[in-house]
Amino acid sequence: MSTLKIENLHVSIGEKEILKGIDLVVNTGETHAIMGPNGNGKSTLLSTIMGHPRYTVTQGSIYIDDKNVLEMSVDERSKAGLFLGMQYPQEIPGVKTSDFLRAAVNAHQEKPVSLFKFIRMLEKNIDELHIDENLAHRYLNEGFSGGEKKRNEILQMKLLQPKFALLDEIDSGLDVDALKIVAKAINDMQSDDFGCIMVSHYERLFELVPPTHVHVIVDGKIILSGGKEVIEKIDQEGYEWVKKLGVEIAGEEEKKPILLENCANKERIKSK
Ligand code: ADP
Ligand code: MG
Repeated sequence: MSTLKIENLHVSIGEKEILKGIDLVVNTGETHAIMGPNGNGKSTLLSTIMGHPRYTVTQGSIYIDDKNVLEMSVDERSKAGLFLGMQYPQEIPGVKTSDFLRAAVNAHQEKPVSLFKFIRMLEKNIDELHIDENLAHRYLNEGFSGGEKKRNEILQMKLLQPKFALLDEIDSGLDVDALKIVAKAINDMQSDDFGCIMVSHYERLFELVPPTHVHVIVDGKIILSGGKEVIEKIDQEGYEWVKKLGVEIAGEEEKKPILLENCANKERIKSK
């Protein structure tokens, strides 16, 4: 068993603090769902774990077992078993998808896989994901539909066999049939040696890939963790109730300004 352990993670983009103390422990064998309103730091969390240079870690730690992830380059993180399925995969004109995939697979091996073996592997996975064969011969993500981009991320995951997959809105842009195919691919990965963090807004994905844990991120903090009852409540009621809960939980240090504002209001009322 392996453990991805995030402690008191604070992350900034430039001067702006986005993550304000995230604690999260994911063991292999577990599937963690992360939900939360847009713009609250979900992608920031996953991209920071993978080592995106835009994000600066100002406090806290990320470990896989006894290995310090924050000291690793992105390719070292990948070799350590991390994989990020991006919310918005980049288009890279000039790089053929199959060449990219083969280079990625080879970077994970001591000896490169033979071309024959790679093609067999690629064809099997393309087939399972119902991806158009021509896609592999096109430039990476260039002109791919939203759904094709997402399936191509899952194809990478299947080829690289990570220990921890971080899947950022992997269901966006997928029609119902494609969603089922992607969900099956994620479920096929499940084992005692695979852990997963899935960011999504939709109950539908979590019905097909049931999480063992559910967390809600508001304003750069996990304000609530629980089981599937959290997903049901968000599906029915949206995020308004969670936000209110967030203000209460995060309230201690924010009490003062709230009280001052109340006082100011009282003063205003009195003076009327
Ligand atoms: P989520 O995935 O929860 O929708 P993100 O992690 O993408 O949210 O974004 C968190 C916050 O970081 C948002 O307020 C967003 O506007 C801000 N942000 C994202 N990228 C940049 C950037 N390049 N420069 C400044 N702020 C950014
Ligand atoms: Mg996002």
